[in-house]
Amino acid sequence: MAHSERPALQPVSLPEDWAPSSWRSRPALQLPSYPDAEVLAGVQEELRDLPPLVTSWEITALKQQLADAQEGRRFLLQGGDCAENFSDCSSDVISNRLKVLLQMSLVLVHGLRLPVVRVGRFAGQYAKPRSADTETRDGITLPSYRGDIVNSPGFSAQERTPDPRRMVKAHARSAMTMNFVRSLIDGGFADLHHPEYWDLRWVGHSPLADEYHRMVSGIGDAVRFMETLSGTSVNNLNRVDFFTSHEALLLPYEEAQTRQVPRQWGWFDLSTHFPWIGMRTAAIDGAHVEYFRGIRNPVAVKIGPSVTPDQLLALVDVLNPDDEPGRLSFIHRMGATHVASRLPPLLDALKRDGRRVLWICDPMHGNTEATSNGYKTRRFRNIRSEIEQSFDIHAVAGTRMGGVHLELTGEDVTECTGGARDLSDRDLERAYRSSVDPRLNYEQALETAMLIVRKQSL
Ligand code: PEP
Ligand code: MN
Repeated sequence: MAHSERPALQPVSLPEDWAPSSWRSRPALQLPSYPDAEVLAGVQEELRDLPPLVTSWEITALKQQLADAQEGRRFLLQGGDCAENFSDCSSDVISNRLKVLLQMSLVLVHGLRLPVVRVGRFAGQYAKPRSADTETRDGITLPSYRGDIVNSPGFSAQERTPDPRRMVKAHARSAMTMNFVRSLIDGGFADLHHPEYWDLRWVGHSPLADEYHRMVSGIGDAVRFMETLSGTSVNNLNRVDFFTSHEALLLPYEEAQTRQVPRQWGWFDLSTHFPWIGMRTAAIDGAHVEYFRGIRNPVAVKIGPSVTPDQLLALVDVLNPDDEPGRLSFIHRMGATHVASRLPPLLDALKRDGRRVLWICDPMHGNTEATSNGYKTRRFRNIRSEIEQSFDIHAVAGTRMGGVHLELTGEDVTECTGGARDLSDRDLERAYRSSVDPRLNYEQALETAMLIVRKQSL
């Protein structure tokens, strides 16, 4: 999946008093209560013996690419489902998601004239934070659904009881997803000579199709021109790097995948290349920050509108004390109405302190709302507005917005309103499939890539 050369990384001091299990001494939010500690321990034992999902070489290659993005030499595209479902681990869902991410990255590479770091929000995005621990329906109270890695969405005691064995299934599903993505990419699916491989069934009907195809044929011409000029094929156009990420929420799962690697120092979380901490579990003295402190992966933290400059600086001190390039990203998710007031003080504080981070904009999670017909949605104009405002705010602050974090799917769903086809609240009934947050559909995702390019080339 990641073919880059092994990069030389800056040596850093390893944290003291840390172990893969040291998070257990801290307050741990958003974790399920498993009814049987012995079954849980047995599952962790089993996970410890299974092969890892990623390697430390890939992880360090990504860290180098993120370091480049911090310096403005790359742009990060991170995207995928809000939550993966076990039942969506199918060839169509995986390949359609890969297609839309490849199309978006082509638009970004072409328009921004920068290499793109491609990170999927998949192969492990199975655990969800919830606003309440329990849910009550018709007088019956049961544990909340916390994602397929924990329990099942159906409303019965059996379905909602957290079951540790689901972790083994999540690991297997993640491995299958990675295996298919790696095989597609290694087999030539991502070959720039053949962008038509990435066309989705519905691309022909899209109002954006013409613009996209014009661009693709322009790139094809450029590739052929260079090949004619040099008399050989242009290297590396048939391979791309693709990395994975998920919210590392379920710490017993992550702990069991945390390993030391021969000829490398320190510990790696080998369940994914690029784990992040969600907004609700980012307390400085909490279990999640403690776990992340000791792993060598590049890590990200979601930053919501209530975070203060001091809290942000404290996170930098704990998560990146040596100011290591590529190590720390902040994903701000303020909402279109708050970003102009909340983001500038945070950017200023880090800039004043001379701290190195990669700033990523998540224009999804601060813009969720409920419609009058009972759907959770996001309006495309708010998503667009948060992206555009964020670029401007960074420009004024003298910082760089080095990437975007999006919830999207390659499927033709109707979950977010607006966009080129101007979906209305009524359209949501037609193809609303997300069990959690509303995702950009294929067309809205491509339109987002196009608007980033337009915004940056103004
Ligand atoms: C998410 O990314 O799905 C999520 C829950 O985000 P946040 O932690 O930013 O609310
Ligand atoms: Mn979400």
